[in-house]
Amino acid sequence: MKILLIILCILLCILLIAVMRTLSVPHKTSVYHGSKDEKRYNGYALKLQKMIQVETVSYRDRPDPEKFRRLHKVMEELFPTVFERCEKYEVDGNLLVRYKGKHPEKQPIVLISHLDVVPAEGDWTYPPFEGKIVDGKIHGRGSFDVKCGVFSFYQAAEELLKEGYEPECDIFLGSSCTEEIGGDGASKLVKWFTDRNIRPYMVCDEGGTIIEDPIGGVKGNFAAVGIFEKGYGDIKIIAKGHGGHSSSPGRNTPIARLAKFEAEIERKSPFKVAFTPAVEGMLKNLAPYCDSFLLKMVFANLWLFKPLLKKVMPAISPQAAAMLQTTMCFTMQKGSDAYNVIPQEAYVTANLRFIPFEGRKESIALIRQIAAKYDLEVEEVNCSDPTGSLDLNGPQFDMCKKAIEKVFPDVCVLPYVVTGGTDSRFWDRYVDACVRFEPVNVSNDQLSKMHAVDENLNIDTLPPAVDYYKEIIRLQESR
Ligand SMILES: [Zn+2]
Repeated sequence: MKILLIILCILLCILLIAVMRTLSVPHKTSVYHGSKDEKRYNGYALKLQKMIQVETVSYRDRPDPEKFRRLHKVMEELFPTVFERCEKYEVDGNLLVRYKGKHPEKQPIVLISHLDVVPAEGDWTYPPFEGKIVDGKIHGRGSFDVKCGVFSFYQAAEELLKEGYEPECDIFLGSSCTEEIGGDGASKLVKWFTDRNIRPYMVCDEGGTIIEDPIGGVKGNFAAVGIFEKGYGDIKIIAKGHGGHSSSPGRNTPIARLAKFEAEIERKSPFKVAFTPAVEGMLKNLAPYCDSFLLKMVFANLWLFKPLLKKVMPAISPQAAAMLQTTMCFTMQKGSDAYNVIPQEAYVTANLRFIPFEGRKESIALIRQIAAKYDLEVEEVNCSDPTGSLDLNGPQFDMCKKAIEKVFPDVCVLPYVVTGGTDSRFWDRYVDACVRFEPVNVSNDQLSKMHAVDENLNIDTLPPAVDYYKEIIRLQESR
């Protein structure tokens, strides 16, 4: 009885501490304001429109540098000062421009985004390569992913050059043309630096952006800064058998074994669930913005609720699960070619995204172990490790945070896990830090239209995006 009472007292004390900590967190709002300068954003939108009008879909095995050179020509007209005063390097349609600084011996920074886009299939409200501007939105493939990014840092450089601004270090503007197909365009730009033994101080790429209502129970616009990128894996799981006629099949035919394996993975993910500093930082930063006291209490007391969250988060949201663990998704399946033939060999393919604490090697080893139970072989087709992480206490993250706070003073900064793939994974090893943040604001609806029908972007988000890049360039003076 006495022990029970002591336990109860301890629990009450813990709860009291959690409540006190929650009460000490002030309630805040995080709001994005688009530009009010109509003349400025209309002018910018017309420039972005010209960039969208050059169709730059990239296809695997069909490189077409000429179409990117056509876009470069358009950009020369849109940003004449940049192309007049800066050195230009072009490799197979991938473009690098050097805006010379006062101290060329200082490590440069590289602003990058890709110029290729994914195909625009389906039924679009406005033609995908016209860049129609309707009701404050510019419509078209690449408007958000990510010609707006390239436009913004070129425009920033154009304006700074016109002002006669001389940056502290060299500023490079890079744009690859193979990002959407995972090609080697970015590597070709990286090579320019490794050949010259130049190690950039930081690379700013896409990845995170200013998002709306990031999770249930938290409203507002948040600047999600990608601090690392998960690894990528295509694998093939193969089942072999004796084949034969399907009239006397026996048990454990190849497809049945694959199905058992798939069911086991699907029933309970074999991958470890844990909090990375990115996720922990994200939840902590979200605490002041929670609608309910209960949610705020959870986020403000991760020391207490982390074990519970680890169980709950993957169960309630696939997006949350993707931030906490390696994921695996079955994508293609093949057996025999006839209804009445048992395959001698059947396979299923899967796409994996590796989390740093359980990377490619460990995750694949785990899959092999489970596959062995069903007498299956595992073949790695195309796999890469997760990238290194941006240091949340490092100067580059701080610089990005300062630029956001200056340009978007009412928007909260969140560290964020990039679950897709970007060009910065090719830069990661060769630079001091990669900051993955595209400084535009999108609604959840606009976010869902990326790579889909009716991609669009608010045009009043363009001026702050340009200002963000100007700020990043100016902040190099503080290094
Ligand atoms: Zn992209």
